Amino acid sequence: MQSFTELELIEPLQRALRAENYTVPTPIQAGAIPHLLAGRDLLGCAQTGTGKTAAFALPMLQRLSATGPDGRRPGAGPRRMRSLVLTPTRELAIQIGDSFRAYGRHLGLRQAVIFGGVGQKPQVEALARGLDILIATPGRLLDLMAQGHLLLDRIEIFVLDEADRMLDMGFIHDIRKVIAALPTRRQSLFFSATMPPDIARLAAGILKDPVEIAVTPVASTAERIEQRVLFVEPAQKRALLAQILKDQAIDRALVFTRTKHGANRVAESLARGRIAAEAIHGNKSQSARQRALENFRSGRTRVLVATDIAARGIDIDGISHVINYELPNVPESYVHRIGRTARAGAAGIAISFCDAEERAYLRDIEKLIRQRVPVVADHPFATGDGSVRAGAEEGGIATPRPAPQPRGSGRRGRARPPRR
Ligand code: AMP
Repeated sequence: MQSFTELELIEPLQRALRAENYTVPTPIQAGAIPHLLAGRDLLGCAQTGTGKTAAFALPMLQRLSATGPDGRRPGAGPRRMRSLVLTPTRELAIQIGDSFRAYGRHLGLRQAVIFGGVGQKPQVEALARGLDILIATPGRLLDLMAQGHLLLDRIEIFVLDEADRMLDMGFIHDIRKVIAALPTRRQSLFFSATMPPDIARLAAGILKDPVEIAVTPVASTAERIEQRVLFVEPAQKRALLAQILKDQAIDRALVFTRTKHGANRVAESLARGRIAAEAIHGNKSQSARQRALENFRSGRTRVLVATDIAARGIDIDGISHVINYELPNVPESYVHRIGRTARAGAAGIAISFCDAEERAYLRDIEKLIRQRVPVVADHPFATGDGSVRAGAEEGGIATPRPAPQPRGSGRRGRARPPRR
């Protein structure tokens, strides 16, 4: 197995990685870092959870520190940014900023994160000095550009993160505007979890002779996760959820609903049943979202209820269970959702509720992941036809099925290799 010391990363980065306890690069890191250090463009097909943030952040930090912070262009005016990471959501922007800060802690480069929904003054002040690394969501970035607070004409490295999500969220025109403001001579990195034709076309317009790296194709993410589906009437879903969450095997559950209102209603009904739950979605104020995330991260709330958009990219380790209160109509979203558990090699359980109208979604999902999702037929609110497809369930709904070989004792949900 390759270690980070075999990659040509400078000592201050190696030191930071040791502090983070990273020893072995993930496949996207091992594949991308040497090419990125050499200045190549990259087309990365990878979702969050694969370590893609470090895959682009480490070589960026190294290249920027080789010429910076100011050495490359003494006398250049302020407000000029040397690199830009464009990402769809505030949560992702903040997490990427945290990663750059952690990996770059010994380098002294200047960075800032800008996103909408909060006052712009501190962001404008951060930009005023010019930055080595700017991490931004598209709307606020264009806003501040229009107000003359920054220029992108000296960008040396540009990263477009979660491109498929950007398009889903309707950012295509914003992306084009940002790209038009970049210099043609630059290094460009493009990441997307999926690569449908419109995304591939967008990438082709941004990248020059890119190295292409694809990791964990959608189907294989699903293989690490224990999945099960429970057939249930819509009116019984709340009661079923409350029942399942009584199981203390659930350390930290992320519950998905299709709509924002649904997320609120589910969180409220759980709270009434004295299950500590909070909803997170785009309607809430930034501080409310951050607080909800922090409570979840620290374990104060055991259950976070989210929509696909709100949860996308949330980087929280130790989510033991993902519960699909409603199945998504886009099958890829199912894979994104269940991928929130089972991070960094840990095991995870994904439980999906499926009512009669969602059967078609389930079929699409099973086609995509090329697996049958086992049915739990005997639960208190079963619709009665679950037995049509016999389930392989043993034990509780929320507990892992007995593994074929002994597991590490005590540590629930962590698939540790047996010692010996
Ligand atoms: P990402 O796909 O960038 O969202 O990263 C997923 C998670 O894996 C984050 O919590 C990272 O801190 C963690 N991570 C990334 N690279 C490594 C590595 N080489 N070793 C251990 N953890 C890592």
